[in-house]
Amino acid sequence: MNIHEYQAKALLRSYGAPVSNGHVVTRAEEAKTIAGEIDGPLWVVKAQIHAGGRGKGHFVEPEAGEKGGVRLAKSIGEAAEEAKKMLGRTLVTHQTGPVGKQVGRVYIENGSGIARELYLAMLIDRQSSRIAFVCSTEGGMDIEEVAAKTPDRILSFTIDPVTGYQPYHGRRIAFALGLEGKQIKQCSTLIGQLYKLFLDKDCEMIEINPLVVTDAGDLKCLDAKMAFDSNALYRHDDILALRDETEEDPKELAASKYDLNYIALDGEIGCMVNGAGLAMATMDIIKLYGAEPANFLDVGGGATREKVTEAFKIITSDPNVKGILVNIFGGIMRCDVIAEGVVAAVKEVGLKVPLVVRLEGTNVEKGKAILNGSGLDVIAADDLSDAAEKIVKAVKG
Ligand code: GDP
Ligand code: MN
Repeated sequence: MNIHEYQAKALLRSYGAPVSNGHVVTRAEEAKTIAGEIDGPLWVVKAQIHAGGRGKGHFVEPEAGEKGGVRLAKSIGEAAEEAKKMLGRTLVTHQTGPVGKQVGRVYIENGSGIARELYLAMLIDRQSSRIAFVCSTEGGMDIEEVAAKTPDRILSFTIDPVTGYQPYHGRRIAFALGLEGKQIKQCSTLIGQLYKLFLDKDCEMIEINPLVVTDAGDLKCLDAKMAFDSNALYRHDDILALRDETEEDPKELAASKYDLNYIALDGEIGCMVNGAGLAMATMDIIKLYGAEPANFLDVGGGATREKVTEAFKIITSDPNVKGILVNIFGGIMRCDVIAEGVVAAVKEVGLKVPLVVRLEGTNVEKGKAILNGSGLDVIAADDLSDAAEKIVKAVKG
């Protein structure tokens, strides 16, 4: 789960990490009052969306003005005006895709004078199963670009979970970042705070880009992105409360409410499958026959008719879906339950695209009988490759 920059900064602040003072604005009429609570002489007005690259992004609506999603203002009035221009408008960045994201919250912060922009991040290194730090002198840029062009400017190392954070880790980063004097101690303290936060809250990723050296020579976290392990949220009510559902794919959100393992993808063939392995194989074989899956969906072993109905409705609600492939190997899952779910969903929302069904296993004859008796226009398939071939043919002609 991701959170907004202003929420991440509040967390950082609560661990003692250096961040500017700021307040979030959600309603245009509050912009002036809220801007007035922040000290000048410089204000930064920042669109809050779960995507990076806001500074270099652009708004779809001309009313938002020419500038991107991070704007500097020299007065309270100007800060309030910039906030109003961004609220409710659509920001496009290289991470949002061409459709962009609607800005429902704007953060107004006390602006910093910047001497240097640096990069600092933490994540889980899958190879070693440890927490890793990544830092670079090239802040404010995409780390992917730095890694491609000047990999020697990135330092990365992992922390041994037995010893945990040690001050020398912080000093190692400080020297790699070219910090000096009091900044070295500040860096070491910050790294310790980040490590504690990461562990305490079951983070997946923390990215501070940029971490800056201010005009006064102090370290400050100017931007903050945080992601949390969804499987650990049950023990972090405070983090779960930060969830912004408007930032999530509505289909994935609906799926999570019904406990379905669903991930939206860009292709044209919707898939309903039981078992993660079979779901992956189904996606692979769709690709093999020259089309792209519109989603990953594992309805699970113990799915009820209601759950199957919801899953089918989520698939049909996707306008990219030009055909649906139901691929079920009934073990614990019974084929008749799947068939009932599909029929119930189609009765509710209709079916405007071709549907190929491959059923095998427990109660397969019962399942087929339900589909045949429903009057639905179902294309039956015998096995996995037959099913993939038929749905791709039905969609692509
Ligand atoms: P992003 O574009 O979504 O990554 O948003 P950031 O928060 O990283 O801001 C983008 C850029 O805006 C930064 O790299 C800075 O150059 C600039 N910026 C952000 N906050 C301040 C500030 O307080 N003062 C100044 N002078 N520039 C800022
Ligand atoms: Mn940034």
